[in-house]
Amino acid sequence: MRVLFAASEVYPLAKTGGLADVAAALPAALAALGVEVCIIMPAYRGVAERMRSLQDAGELRIRGQSLRLLAGTHPDHGVPMLLVDAPELFARAGSPYGHGDDAVRFGSFCEAVARVASGIPARDADSATNVNKGHWDTSQRADIVHLNDWHTGLTPAFLSSSAPRPRTVFTIHNLAYQGFFDRAQFDGLGLSPSLWSPEAIEFWGGFSFMKAGLVLSDALTTVSPTYAREIQTPEFGEHLDGVLRQRSTQLHGILNGIDTTIWNPATDTLIEHHYDAASVAAGKAANKRELQQQLGLADSDQPLLGFIGRLAHQKGADALLAASAELSQLPLQVVVLASGDPALEHGFSEWAARCPWRVAVRVAYDEGLAHRIEAASDMFIMPSRYEPCGLNQMYSQRYVSIPLLRRVGGLADSVDDISGSAPTGIHFEHTDAAGVIYAVRKALELHAQPALWLQMQARGMARDWSWRPSALRYMQLYQSLLAA
Ligand code: ADP
Repeated sequence: MRVLFAASEVYPLAKTGGLADVAAALPAALAALGVEVCIIMPAYRGVAERMRSLQDAGELRIRGQSLRLLAGTHPDHGVPMLLVDAPELFARAGSPYGHGDDAVRFGSFCEAVARVASGIPARDADSATNVNKGHWDTSQRADIVHLNDWHTGLTPAFLSSSAPRPRTVFTIHNLAYQGFFDRAQFDGLGLSPSLWSPEAIEFWGGFSFMKAGLVLSDALTTVSPTYAREIQTPEFGEHLDGVLRQRSTQLHGILNGIDTTIWNPATDTLIEHHYDAASVAAGKAANKRELQQQLGLADSDQPLLGFIGRLAHQKGADALLAASAELSQLPLQVVVLASGDPALEHGFSEWAARCPWRVAVRVAYDEGLAHRIEAASDMFIMPSRYEPCGLNQMYSQRYVSIPLLRRVGGLADSVDDISGSAPTGIHFEHTDAAGVIYAVRKALELHAQPALWLQMQARGMARDWSWRPSALRYMQLYQSLLAA
């Protein structure tokens, strides 16, 4: 089975969010299952230089413009990759997104993906005939083209409708970002005029790449089963819930995995004291003492509550701050690592200034500190308003920091609540101070019952957080599409 996996960002070559992690880890897990997979992404500035065994793989002409294909392998795990190289489109300073011509940039990327997925006749791709072993053969059609988020959504519109045609899977990582553009930009892309209709990709007077992916792909997935249900409701649907309800039988929720080689407390190079299931208590206590010293917290055995994340509306950090006065009265220390909204950054810093021995706040993006907080904390809070999948609740269970989280999206799917028979964490209902305080009080209550607490810790740590189970689900989905 040949799978072309298209994404606008791939860790470590380009990353603005969780999409990049998935686009690196899932193809590697698929390759380990024997799938012949190739990742295709735009050649942003500096990307080609970081690839391995790079070679020219031919030229594509799209609307009069020349785009080169570069073939290579992923720097970490060696999965074959293709870069779509057009410096005037992609080699920009700053973020991959938010440029005035994004419709053309990602429209061209989608068209290039469609061409490669269909197989490029050797006379067009001048070096396709002498591809290296270990590279993707661009002259061969893909069986499946797996698309990710809006940047790839127009790909099915550029695929020929006649057989044999690759089957398309479109994965939603975050429905809130949609790639919305106007009629003039639609006209510039050379798409079939029949697509300009509300049944197709027209959307609120313009058109949407995300909607194109949702309407035109053979199968849809999103990154957790609960988010798959939530996005079919007006509350979470970002005005696309109607489209998603129409396609509900083709919409599957498949939970993300995590990189268990990087996030492993027994080998993590970013934490001070390693531990495994047999040495949790001692290992965590040593990491906690170390972190207390580093951050100027009192040397105390009180439980340590962690929060890490973007200070954006989605993450609900405002609810944590709204609970700060009451939390300060509880037998608890708090550590916050976050950045984003300046008003929240200021609010958290003020909280730390009021109780420096009990509350430590770092306004920064700090990978090492994020690992040390997971290793040192006893509890970890995530008051998210919505969460397609979320990563920290999985890291927390593996690092044995009991997750307290709002029951939404992937959070609900990866942590079992105390209302069930085998809890690994605590759910709460609303993103507000009362929700946060309920969960923290409950956690303190359970923490005071060591037998229960240890059981919760052990269950979360023992679960398989690797990508393998999810990759198997994707493989089954591909097989079912090919059999249909
Ligand atoms: P999202 O992609 O919506 O931001 P995820 O939970 O899927 O949320 O992934 C966010 C990742 O970024 C997590 O691994 C989290 O630990 C990390 N992260 C977020 N903010 C920070 C920060 N200030 N410092 C270090 N890591 C951070």
